[in-house]
Amino acid sequence: MMSSLPPVKEDRIICELPLYFTRDAAVHTKDGFNITVKEACQGQKTGLNVAKVIVVGDVGVGKTCLINRWDTAGQERFRCVASTYYRGAQAIIVVFDLSNYNSLDHAREWLEDAMRDNDPSSVLLFLVGTKKDLSHPDQLAQMEQEAVRLSEEIRAEYWAVSALSGESVRDFFLRVASLTFEATVLSELERNKSRQARDIVKISNNCDEKFKKRQSSCCL
Ligand code: GDP
Repeated sequence: MMSSLPPVKEDRIICELPLYFTRDAAVHTKDGFNITVKEACQGQKTGLNVAKVIVVGDVGVGKTCLINRWDTAGQERFRCVASTYYRGAQAIIVVFDLSNYNSLDHAREWLEDAMRDNDPSSVLLFLVGTKKDLSHPDQLAQMEQEAVRLSEEIRAEYWAVSALSGESVRDFFLRVASLTFEATVLSELERNKSRQARDIVKISNNCDEKFKKRQSSCCL
């Protein structure tokens, strides 16, 4: 699902909400886009949506490979950033290496750092284990158990991917794009609604004033 602006290629149009990776560690388990968002898109009541998505994690866990694997049509902008740049993110992706326990251990610190300048109620969190191809099945199962536990605790959605083979990378980014899009449209609609409500209150205040004046002039 995309808004009317700018013109988008057919393969960038998402009609169905992409599914979570595993139900145990999915914060949003609904099947489709929010009905209000669907209606807004169909009625072209929403404009261009640009979301700020931050990717954090230890050096070497595979952040660069993960992003490069995704077909973003060159829209991504990389930066080594100061933590103030974290402010105003719509989504935070905390990356760890499924073959390196320490990197999962550090995930919580990365998240705390990235959340410092953000409002927890309005940021979507994702915990992503990379290098799935490298892990032995037993080690993978153990790491995933820990990762799912952490994702439940921090209210993040868990995914396991491989930038090498490409496994789940596209599905993951479609999910990030869709959930972020949905959340942005919902908050935009909410802002418009409260703006309209404020206008109505202002108008009725003016009416009251006029009405009072008229009443008082009648009595004179
Ligand atoms: P960053 O420092 O987090 O950006 O990590 P990079 O993306 O530079 O990756 C660090 C190293 O891990 C590189 O040598 C990559 O080739 C390797 N790597 C990244 N992702 C994967 C993966 O999914 N599987 C395997 N086997 N290696 C990976």
